[in-house]
Formats: sequence, structure tokens, C-alpha cells
Amino acid sequence: MTEPRLRIAVQKSGRLAERSLELITGAGLRAIRGANELLYRIENHPIDLLRVRDDDIPTFVDDNVAELGIVGYNVLKEHFPDKDLEEIIVMRLGFGKCTLKLAVPIGFDYQGPQSVAGKRIATSYPNILKAWLSDNGITADIVEMRGGVEVAPRMHIADAICDLVSTGTTLEVNNLKPVELVLKSEAVLIKAPHAPQPDLAHIYDMVVRRFDGVTKSTGAKYVMMNAPRDHLDEIINLIPGSGSPTIMNLVDPSMVAIHAVCDESVFWETLDRLKAAGASAILVLPIEKMMP
Ligand code: ATP
Ligand code: ZN
Repeated sequence: MTEPRLRIAVQKSGRLAERSLELITGAGLRAIRGANELLYRIENHPIDLLRVRDDDIPTFVDDNVAELGIVGYNVLKEHFPDKDLEEIIVMRLGFGKCTLKLAVPIGFDYQGPQSVAGKRIATSYPNILKAWLSDNGITADIVEMRGGVEVAPRMHIADAICDLVSTGTTLEVNNLKPVELVLKSEAVLIKAPHAPQPDLAHIYDMVVRRFDGVTKSTGAKYVMMNAPRDHLDEIINLIPGSGSPTIMNLVDPSMVAIHAVCDESVFWETLDRLKAAGASAILVLPIEKMMP
């Protein structure tokens, strides 16, 4: 009998592919090419990567073809507009960030959602757009397009578009301006409705725990400094996103050492403020791994 293997669905190529693989590698899973391009094997654990188009990932995971999947929240929401996605999402992964925006031609006199009532809006996200229109109490014609949505107004196929934006350059190039934020998105880890079979439960838990560790440690820093005891509260408040720092006595009774994990980047401005509040010998170290 062949040993059971956990399956994780990932995007084969595209904007999420590289970062998904980085997450997997960062979790200590060594991926090698399997029998074909569709399948990668993890050589050091009983895990396979199913490499597919991102649009197929929600269905594969929902059908229990893969126990876990990495997909954009936008794609998940479009596939399951009426489901409670919090039941499917295991965690947010912090990459693949983008926004779905309503955009209109530069010359369009936009006064609010009602300005697009009765107009034609081109999008690859008809379900999400439909929900947004209904939330705003308006109706409009949805022109569904697989891609190239941004050229629709110029081609007189639509009056406005609803499309993914990360920098906004594409909109600008096409003489469009964003006017409404419809959805914020990032990559998410999703799980199948069935629990993994008992043989795989520990592998499943390990993957989730390690993904969590990798995600939390991305951008996180370990900060150490000395501080005057009487400015301790002020200084701790300045340390970005630190839960409960460790305070240690120093030989000089008026001073303490502070060690803290910051869950976000530490910028020069923060260091300047810490310094001004009396901190000294400030060290900021990268965190390679973190197990919360
Ligand atoms: P596939 O061939 O797998 O169907 P695709 O062409 O549908 O790929 P990509 O362009 O690779 O999709 O984008 C995948 C996901 O990356 C998007 O669904 C979204 O979650 C995320 N993303 C991040 N930034 C952007 C962006 N600027 N434009 C589009 N998608 C983005
Ligand atoms: Zn796609």
C-alpha cells in the first residue's frame, strides 16, 4: 500500500507562484519536480504540491482533492460569494496584496456609486461586483471579461471597470482613475471541509504551524536596548507591535535592558524616538524563525 500524502494546491505560475514556494521552502519543505509539471513532491515529508491555475484552487480544496491551498482572497471570494470564508481560511499569508477597485475614465464626472448606476462595468469578478452594487443599492450592467479589462472603456465595451490594482500604473496608462475600493486582498491558506485522514493529521498540523511561524517572522525583528528605568513605559510604548518585552536588571540600578520581538519593520524614525526617550545601545536583529 502506498503511503498517504498530504496535498497542497498552489498556483503553477503567476503572481502568487514564487511567494507560495518561498513560504513552503521557508517552512523546511524541500520541493522537487515530480512525475510531471502538475505535481511537485516534498522529498523530506509525505507532501505533494498540486500546481494548478489559481482559479481551480478553491474548487480543488472544497472537493477535498487537496487538503490545503494557497490562493488570493479575491479568487476565493469570487468562487464562494455566499460562503462564510472564515470557516475555510486557516490564515492570511501577508503576500500577494492587491485591491479590487472601481475605476472610471479620467474625464468621468464621478460623484459616488450612483454615478455608475445603469452603466456598463467590465470585470473578471462579476460576483464580487454584484455584491458591491447591491450593498450600494444600485444596479448596473456587468460585462464579464477574462482579462484585458482595462481596455474595455477605450473600446467602448464598458463605461467603467472593476479590476485588481497594486500600483495603479496600469490604470494610469489606460487613462483611468480609481474611484472606489471594492475589496482588499492578499494570499490566504485555505483548508478542505474534511479533516485530513488520521495518518496525515500530524503532518497537516506541522505544515500549518510552520506556515504560521514563517508568516509571523516575515518582517519581524528582535530589538534590544538599554533604557533608564524611569522612562520604561514611554520606551515600551514606542516599540512597534511588541507584545510583552523582557526587562532585565543592569549593574547600574537606574538602567534596565529591554528585549522585544517587533511584529513589523523598525524604521529609523522609531530609533530616533527611542533615542530621544533615553534608550541607548539599540540593536535590531532579523528573526529567522519564530514559533509562537
Ligand atoms: P492563473 O494562470 O493561475 O489563472 P492569473 O493570471 O489568473 O493566473 P495572476 O495575475 O498570476 O493570476 O494573479 C494571481 C493573484 O495574485 C491574483 O488573483 C491576486 O490575488 C494576486 N495579485 C497581487 N497583485 C496583483 C496585481 N497587481 N494584479 C493582479 N493580481 C494580483
Ligand atoms: Zn487565474
